Amino acid sequence: MSGQETKAENLSLEAYKALYKIIRVILQMPKTVSALQEIVRLARPVFIFDNIILYELEIDQTLAPTYARSVGRGRSTEDDMVWGEAIAREIIQAGEIVEKEHQTSDIKPNRLNQQYYLGFPIKKNQQITGALVFIRFGGPPYLPEQIQLAGLIVEHVEQLLERRYLVERVTTLEVERQFDRLQENFVATVSHDLRTPLGFIKGYVTTLMREDAQWDAETRHEFLAIIDDESDRLTELIDNLLDSSRLQTGTLPIDPQPVQVGALLRDFIQRASNGNYNLQFRTEIDPSARSICIDAGRIIQVLDNLVGNAAKYAPGSTLTISLTWEAQQAHISVRDTGPGVAPEHIEYIFKRFYRVRPSDGDARGTGLGLFICKQIVAAHHGKIVAESVFGQGLAFHIYIPCDDFLSESTTQIQEIFV
Ligand code: ADP
Repeated sequence: MSGQETKAENLSLEAYKALYKIIRVILQMPKTVSALQEIVRLARPVFIFDNIILYELEIDQTLAPTYARSVGRGRSTEDDMVWGEAIAREIIQAGEIVEKEHQTSDIKPNRLNQQYYLGFPIKKNQQITGALVFIRFGGPPYLPEQIQLAGLIVEHVEQLLERRYLVERVTTLEVERQFDRLQENFVATVSHDLRTPLGFIKGYVTTLMREDAQWDAETRHEFLAIIDDESDRLTELIDNLLDSSRLQTGTLPIDPQPVQVGALLRDFIQRASNGNYNLQFRTEIDPSARSICIDAGRIIQVLDNLVGNAAKYAPGSTLTISLTWEAQQAHISVRDTGPGVAPEHIEYIFKRFYRVRPSDGDARGTGLGLFICKQIVAAHHGKIVAESVFGQGLAFHIYIPCDDFLSESTTQIQEIFV
């Protein structure tokens, strides 16, 4: 506890009852701030104060006010933070209760010029971690019984903070555990996905190099085509991994230029239709020649990903790519007629490494594609959402605002791991 020996025996009946209620609040209210609010409400009738400020020491030893409440009239807590902080520093240095009177000489009403501070150190495992400061304007000075009651309240605030610390620790451990698990899955998936194309490349190259075998031109061409395909797959995987790590560090380069979205989409669909996809393409493009500021390469990367996914997970389906202009945004959608995604998975498919069926037969992947799409669209201040009728298809809707707001060449994206 905070320096002073505090016992509840000498308290008045009212103070004792208030203390009892405060203890119950601490046991019942899981949220620190709501519990503090309630403690202030219960304590105030038996222990008059105008402001209460809780300061906590940060890792770098700076003091941060983590809770402040003004219950008296005519003052705002901010006015007293500075002074409260000076007292809090004194308490932390002395390691004991500090009681102080402070007279200001401004022209505010008299009562407010005379401030009585009562501050207690806050401890965790015998270490001082902060201070709780009560401020009363215009007196009277704190009575011994009030100091005793405040001391008991502080003990319970310490318990409350201890509980918050434990909850935070458990949460951190859970996130760390989850992250470790993700890392393990990631390493397993990525090494498998890197090894598979590498294995093919190595196998076909070794076969072609055999001196005891002759290959006709057609077979050689077939082998080389496989090596070519698998090298492309490797490049794509490595690009995805790089993008994903740039997203994690917040340095995905975005180079926005005015682009006619309709023309961009028509070119893209033309190219995709000539590609080797097992899909029927349909287009519904608004004919207007409107431009918005986007990084065309990155938006094409998003579309490539969605088309690639449709080919993997909805082969043989009709893929409709449409563009409409809404109030202040372009709305691009990519809709297939494949199996779709079950409702319980839909909210997760944009998460890093998330795959609906982790070992999806021929449909290889790492669960990075949609995560990257989401981040790229977010870097354009837009959003991407998925809509699925299970068994009937999946649609992705991309909304990009029309304002010419993208002027920086690099966006800062904050991403947590799950
Ligand atoms: P990957 O394809 O590498 O697994 P993505 O992030 O691109 O990763 O996609 C995440 C998951 O979303 C996929 O594993 C798949 O289960 C599901 N998915 C994506 N696109 C489709 C689609 N068009 N139809 C059905 N499922 C899809």
